[in-house]
Amino acid sequence: MTLCSLEGASIESAPMPTKAPARKTSANGATGATGTTGATPAREHSVDEIAEKISAAILEHRLAPGTKLGEDRLATIFATSRAKVREVLARLAHEQIVELVPQRGAFVAKPTIEQAQDVFEARRLIEPGVLRRLIRTLDDAKRERLQRHIELEADARRRDDKRAIVRLSGEFHVLLAELAGNSALARSMRELSVLTCLIISLYDAPTATSCRADEHEEIVAAVNRGDAARAEKLMLHHLDHIEQSLKLDDSVEEVDLESVFS
Ligand SMILES: [Zn+2]
Repeated sequence: MTLCSLEGASIESAPMPTKAPARKTSANGATGATGTTGATPAREHSVDEIAEKISAAILEHRLAPGTKLGEDRLATIFATSRAKVREVLARLAHEQIVELVPQRGAFVAKPTIEQAQDVFEARRLIEPGVLRRLIRTLDDAKRERLQRHIELEADARRRDDKRAIVRLSGEFHVLLAELAGNSALARSMRELSVLTCLIISLYDAPTATSCRADEHEEIVAAVNRGDAARAEKLMLHHLDHIEQSLKLDDSVEEVDLESVFS
């Protein structure tokens, strides 16, 4: 499971008695996309796995906001029943990733400008607190995790791997919250990160990434120095930069669902 995946939010999906995926991300969360649900390739995809695949497609900007998620097509793509697809879609709707429209079906959510502003406001309130807590609890293992993530981001940029860049950008913020060691903060950050991914793919240029190349590195440097004031200031600037890069653009192109998942 990736750090930026949605399994965190699924904890709240109480109505669906599915098996909870492993809550701890692997040490190399950014590359550790190996499932932790104990799935074997031979059997049918679980609800968790299908939800994860759809989420990953959204996070990597392969599925744009507003894309119709047809039950029949998804059932065929994942070789499963429509009932299971409905369960997946209901869960993703609960996580605000998918919008269920009566008589019309399921669509990748399209957060409004106002919702987008709410997400950034929430992040500006939460993330400085995350950094303060992280600095208070920082140890060598956490330093190493941060350093490894920075290196993964740099590597993705060197390879110009846009999907990885987008994913790792979001995962950086979730990693900070997880390392800070407050599970409620981490869960909130996971949800906000996914919503931010949707907002960016909706309101930003398709090739843009959510986070500037050097800003994560600067934040980590301040954290490593134990300079909470500087780290918080850098984070607020960072969030401002992301928000300022957004612009309204409602156009949604037709997407070939089969090719996204092929
Ligand atoms: Zn960032």
